[in-house]
Amino acid sequence: MACVRLILGDQLNDRHSWFQHVDPKIHYVMMEVRSETDYVKHHAQKVIAIFAAMRALADHLRQQGHSVHYFKISDALNRQNFAENLQLIFSKVKATRFEYQEPDEYRLDEELLRFARSCGLPFEVKSSEHFLDTRLGVSQHFQPQAKRWLMESYYRVIRKKTGYLMDEDGSPNGGKWNFDTENRKPWRGSPPLPKSWDFSHNHLSLWQEIQKAGVKTFGEPSADSFPWPLNRREAKTQLKAFVERGLPHFGDYEDAMHSTSDRLFHSRLSFALNVKMLSPREVVEAAIAKQKANPKEISLAAIEGFVRQIIGWREYIRGVYWAKMPDYRDGNNLQHEMPLPRWFWDGETQMNCLRHCLGQSLSTAYAHHIQRLMVIGTFCLSAGIHPRAVEQWFLGVYIDAFEWVELPNVIGMSQHADGGFLASKPYLCAASYIGKMSDYCSDCVYNPKDRLGPNACPLNVFYWDFWLRHQHRFSNNPRIGMAVRQAKAMKPEDKKAIRERAEALRAKLDHI
Ligand SMILES: Cc1cc2nc3c(=O)[nH]c(=O)nc-3n(C[C@H](O)[C@H](O)[C@H](O)COP(=O)(O)OP(=O)(O)OC[C@H]3O[C@@H](n4cnc5c(N)ncnc54)[C@H](O)[C@@H]3O)c2cc1C
Ligand code: SF4
Repeated sequence: MACVRLILGDQLNDRHSWFQHVDPKIHYVMMEVRSETDYVKHHAQKVIAIFAAMRALADHLRQQGHSVHYFKISDALNRQNFAENLQLIFSKVKATRFEYQEPDEYRLDEELLRFARSCGLPFEVKSSEHFLDTRLGVSQHFQPQAKRWLMESYYRVIRKKTGYLMDEDGSPNGGKWNFDTENRKPWRGSPPLPKSWDFSHNHLSLWQEIQKAGVKTFGEPSADSFPWPLNRREAKTQLKAFVERGLPHFGDYEDAMHSTSDRLFHSRLSFALNVKMLSPREVVEAAIAKQKANPKEISLAAIEGFVRQIIGWREYIRGVYWAKMPDYRDGNNLQHEMPLPRWFWDGETQMNCLRHCLGQSLSTAYAHHIQRLMVIGTFCLSAGIHPRAVEQWFLGVYIDAFEWVELPNVIGMSQHADGGFLASKPYLCAASYIGKMSDYCSDCVYNPKDRLGPNACPLNVFYWDFWLRHQHRFSNNPRIGMAVRQAKAMKPEDKKAIRERAEALRAKLDHI
């Protein structure tokens, strides 16, 4: 009897029940393959981080006594895809059984199921033991025919189920489920930013190996001072540092942006979470324990905002993905067709907010939520970029981008391409919001106050053009009626000028 167990690159949970006992008849297989590096062009740091973290887990398991077969990207025997490499190992160990953990991506779920059914061995698909809910938990909570599934309603169920931030009588701590309105302060240099808790690894030789293998990437590799955690010990260090230094101000400045900091008080835990080096439970419990011990330093609003992202948004997004794939990825409800401008690949635009957010994404493989949603996402939505082009860029660029979490965030939350299923209103802003929440506008060639004229901020032009173009679709939406009414009330000559200016900008989008 020999069992082969496949571990995917985002299943790096060394506490999975698989590893509780060492059994010489069980062979673990891990592989760096071109089918995974090439399905979209990835940021260099993403490829380095995943390979380095996979290698670290393989070493750890071997040290524990497990049998691990590892295909490096450069190995001559590596056939560069799951099916052929698995067959090689099946022959080598004379496998009689195949097991793998539930993949989180639809693409891989299909591919592995097809392989398992045709490989001629009995097989079993195990839980990855990572999430709080099952794949189908969200869809079971809502009516299948409902036009929209509101995250807030699902979040309350998870709060009750887990007991996080709940009083003994079943009511939420502080008498409120959601303290979102208290999390909207701009940051103007105070309180001081926490000392960075990033790492500084040297991965030059791995980076050279990746390049030599011919893997095409983009973005800054930062191989000689690599900042991301690559094993569980480092991920726990990152969590501890965030809880001590970032969490106290996380809630207040969650929506703030600033040119001097790419993260402000955000955790940057998404990579460690998404490759499963950390579990959502331990992250949330560490944060709640810290708040309980320091209620004066960490407000209920701060902790609730953080917990909601993880047990609410993250689980809900995953549930939407599994309920709506594969059709969801092709959503283009607003019929946007423009290609991405070229400066998405080098950050070279005159719009200071975008130059910062794109430049930072290309150099660090990271942007925080508001930069993704209200700067990059707003631009794409209001300019009318094809949602699939936006989605593919987001999938490649961020260190934490795995399709199950990235795709609904882009297609649904950011580009409103699912017809409002996930978000009840389009997330869209003009320069007034960017100016209020950041310092980007103070150093921009464009005028944030103008919506017309040669120097008018392009985001203002596109913002009003969006409401003019889509006024009929949104005029009955109570959450955005005001913007539509203002657009409708414009003088005809202003409407015409905005539409023309927007078209002129679209015609030279590569050069704004
Ligand atoms: C257009 C767009 C694309 C996104 N793509 C991704 C992606 O590819 N991968 C990804 O993990 N997140 C994605 N997000 C969600 C969110 O922006 C990132 O999780 C967050 O910025 C990661 O940084 P952080 O760890 O510092 O987060 P923090 O702000 O410190 O938040 C803590 C954790 O909450 C979770 N979280 C917060 N918001 C969300 C959300 N909307 N959906 C799911 N989890 C959330 C993450 O696990 C995050 O690590 C996207 C959001 C938008 C608007
Ligand atoms: S003026 Fe407009 S383009 Fe310039 S930073 Fe402000 S919002 Fe961005």
